Amino acid sequence: MSAAPLDIAALRADTPGCARVLHFNNAGAALPPRPVLAAVQAHLAREAEVGGYEAAAAAGPRLEAMYASLARLINAAPDEIAFIENATRAWDMAFYALAATFRPGDRIVTAVAEYASNFIAFLHAAEERGVSIDICPNDAAGALDPAALEALIVPTTRLIAITHVPSTGGLVNPAGAVGRIARARGIPYLLDDCQSVGQMPIDVQAIGCTMLSATGRKFLRGPRGTGFLYVRRDWVRRLTPPMLDLHAAEWVAPERFEIRPDARRFENWESFIAGRLGLGAAAEYALAVGLDAIAARVRALAETLRGELARLPGVAVHDLGAERSGIVTFTRAGEQPEAIMARLRAQAINVSVSPASYSRLDMEPRGLEAMVRASVHYYNTEAEVARFCAALAAG
Ligand SMILES: *Cc1c(COP(=O)(O)O)cnc(C)c1O
Repeated sequence: MSAAPLDIAALRADTPGCARVLHFNNAGAALPPRPVLAAVQAHLAREAEVGGYEAAAAAGPRLEAMYASLARLINAAPDEIAFIENATRAWDMAFYALAATFRPGDRIVTAVAEYASNFIAFLHAAEERGVSIDICPNDAAGALDPAALEALIVPTTRLIAITHVPSTGGLVNPAGAVGRIARARGIPYLLDDCQSVGQMPIDVQAIGCTMLSATGRKFLRGPRGTGFLYVRRDWVRRLTPPMLDLHAAEWVAPERFEIRPDARRFENWESFIAGRLGLGAAAEYALAVGLDAIAARVRALAETLRGELARLPGVAVHDLGAERSGIVTFTRAGEQPEAIMARLRAQAINVSVSPASYSRLDMEPRGLEAMVRASVHYYNTEAEVARFCAALAAG
């Protein structure tokens, strides 16, 4: 589907940060647009004026609408969505619910570019439950190879868990191809979509994942301290959350409790209410801008940046995969990634650094200790790409 071009000037005018910084740290935390900022600020002001519980009661319908907005963003239903304070805890709630059912000898299939926190949880389950971890090899371009993944599946495979868009490299893994395998084999499929939601159209029906985790602050442009979990309806009741409270469950008799029937069983009672409203506003904003147009713009800008960087003396771009994301990783001969980040920040240019400890299976075999990560969003411009490359080369 071809996307209508975006009005970049208007979108930048709607983003206060664009006037102050050259922001290529969208994979860390993107700049929020005005409606997100307004939603959070207005609610915090309301809490101060009338009381936190009273402000939440008054915001009732808008709080409820957040679930519908997130559901629409990924083609799910509102009862399949849980608000969770970040993507890691969202992923953990799903993973540890499943892990409680693992037996020694059970196997988890994952991929090379898996995120550190997820891999730490796999190692934790290996230690505590005696499960084994199978790593799917990459294809020639460096993305996970679905045929190789299928070949790893055995009767004791209990989970497929991969990252769609790894945070430490430019590739997009074939999440849908993995979903077809998971569905055909009847294996639960947990997808880390932390860097993909807000960057590209996501359709959980088309992908075929059972569970999906995402954060608010990255490409979705929501507030920090927000995230969500999707659990497919037929799996919600099969998963007992690793922790329960009086929101996830009800104490119905002195010796009995009942767990909520919907995905909110993975939530906890207290949460960042202003953040919930901001997250809902961020989802609505992304939908209004249009995910097809966002994806096309991000892809094109990132390719431009890769091309410009590759022309600079001493700069090496390290992105893998035939399909690429808005995350661009590189090193520069004679200047450490941390030093590059600090030097650029002094000029109000934001990037981040990806150390090998965030993605050891991916970076160690390539001899990479750390890389600079420059991640672009749709509100960035070609002029910023040029200014960025000039600043990098001038140091
Ligand atoms: C950032 C990131 C996470 C963690 O998200 P939080 O919201 O910080 O918990 C998980 N997976 C990937 C791929 C990420 O990039």
